[in-house]
Amino acid sequence: MKKVLMGNEAVAYSLFINGVNVAVGYPGTPSTEVIETLKNFKDDDFYVEWSTNEKVALEIAAGASLAGARAVATMKQVGLNVAADPLLSLTIVGVEGGLIVFVADDPGPHSSQTEQDTRNFARFCNLPVFDPSSPKEAFELIKPAFEISEKYKLPVLFRMTTRVCHSNQSVEFEFKREKKKVKGFVKKPDWVILPALSYIKHVELKQKLQNMKKELSVYNKIEGRGKIGIITGGVSYFYVKEAIKGYDDLFSIFKITIPHPLDEEFILEFVKDKEMLIFIEELDPVLEEEVKLILFENGRIISTYGKRNGYVPFAGELDVDKVKDILNRIFSNKLHIKENTLTDILQIPKRQAQLCAGCPHRNSFLVVKYATKGQDVVFTGDIGCYTLGFAKPISTTDTCLCMGASITMAQGLKIADASKKIIAFIGDSTFFHSGITGLVNSYYNMHNITVCILDNLTTGMTGFQPHPGTGKKIYGEEGKKVNIENIVKGIGIEKILVIDPYSDFTENVDKVREFLNTEELGVIVFRRECANLKSRKSYFKINQNCLKCKVCINVTGCPAIDEDENGSIFIDSVLCKSCGLCKNFCPNNAIEKVMENE
Ligand code: SF4
Ligand code: SF4
Repeated sequence: MKKVLMGNEAVAYSLFINGVNVAVGYPGTPSTEVIETLKNFKDDDFYVEWSTNEKVALEIAAGASLAGARAVATMKQVGLNVAADPLLSLTIVGVEGGLIVFVADDPGPHSSQTEQDTRNFARFCNLPVFDPSSPKEAFELIKPAFEISEKYKLPVLFRMTTRVCHSNQSVEFEFKREKKKVKGFVKKPDWVILPALSYIKHVELKQKLQNMKKELSVYNKIEGRGKIGIITGGVSYFYVKEAIKGYDDLFSIFKITIPHPLDEEFILEFVKDKEMLIFIEELDPVLEEEVKLILFENGRIISTYGKRNGYVPFAGELDVDKVKDILNRIFSNKLHIKENTLTDILQIPKRQAQLCAGCPHRNSFLVVKYATKGQDVVFTGDIGCYTLGFAKPISTTDTCLCMGASITMAQGLKIADASKKIIAFIGDSTFFHSGITGLVNSYYNMHNITVCILDNLTTGMTGFQPHPGTGKKIYGEEGKKVNIENIVKGIGIEKILVIDPYSDFTENVDKVREFLNTEELGVIVFRRECANLKSRKSYFKINQNCLKCKVCINVTGCPAIDEDENGSIFIDSVLCKSCGLCKNFCPNNAIEKVMENE
């Protein structure tokens, strides 16, 4: 069959065809669609789930692999930080069934707190890493990735970047699953990590990397015959190809699909007749440093241009225009590489990120903001839709670091500055991911902070995946529901308040103000499902009483309320989710409810 597949879908199809038995992950852009696609496939020897975090996912995949199953754990780049602990230990313990760790990096970044480069993790962990340039290549590389993992008994990193994850390409394949017989767990002393064994295995690990170099170098390729060598990889390969169109005799391209480990002989063969080398890669100078080391060790002196001498940027995404600029700078504009491409012409206006119209988090943030008016308060934020609490006019997020850190950073702030009230905001999925341990610490060490759990009954930002608090599993079928209040009580925290952010605003403000009156550890659960999950029965409109004062816009920042060219205020009836928040701030009763059938 021939199918147009997004990069992440191509990975999912290939994983399934190549007999993956266990697929687990935690949602995070740009990685989410791998599990979202895999869940559409069914087989009696295939299991898929959303796990509570990436460490949990990788440990499940590792368990399945030790029993001989083919497994994949999916995550975004920052998720790999969470899973780093089991990953590094797995390099020593080893695997049995093929184990792929799929990691999506986010140069730009488009939706991440960091721009980190997973190829560095491969160097740090001593693991091979596949770095496909296109959906089709991603599809083709899953099979060898499993085979390398099984042959060398090591997990394999499969790293893609946003543009490869989310671009589409036609892929031709036979949709036939290669069934792998899972032999079951066989007891072996190897599976128990012990210091003495670790030393021996570390030596073995280095040897394995040496051994696999040749085998892996078949996935790298050389194009062209020019004396100027461009070394590139990932999606940058296509930018380079496009940028040097018409100059084929001048350049040759070395496309590196396996950035680690690199085969020295292959590199030396490529550079043999080159007069200069240019390194074009996104994020860190991984290829540049690895290749330069090989050149140095082999006494090869050649001019090089890359990140280390400032020709290629360290941060942000590359594109064809940027690559042309780099080449024009290197050749002092003598090559006259053409500059007009689509990206010059299409300038998309920048928009401020904001909570959706009717988002219950907007109500929750404003309730807390009004309840603490005039007080010296620090609001610590977390990762998810509610990170957008930083945006004006809501402005109730003063810090945001990583998953779960709102609760723990709040404790640090309280220790350092006891005079301030510290209020942490965290979402439901993030609470299950890594908020619980922070809350336990807060109780145990008696840090008097307030934790607001904004429970929208889904994982909103990545596309409404279920989590333990929803009680639904990946296919929407029943699982065991984990109640957040019971966890909080189970820790020992007695001060708990549950609020519906859509209910009466003034009453909610009073309840929260009273709750915050005493200085002790407390948890407020704001519970209302994400506005995008609910069909509405009514919406709001502005009537003739409107004074055009714009208080409704200026206080809520709701994207459904706007001003037309005549200065009249209107509510977009399509966007309005009927939360009624704006009505609370109108001084002249100018916002009224309209029933859907009126
Ligand atoms: S997706 Fe849901 S939770 Fe996220 S901002 Fe929109 S309404 Fe709020
Ligand atoms: S707050 Fe009320 S009166 Fe003021 S602009 Fe909005 S709808 Fe009109």
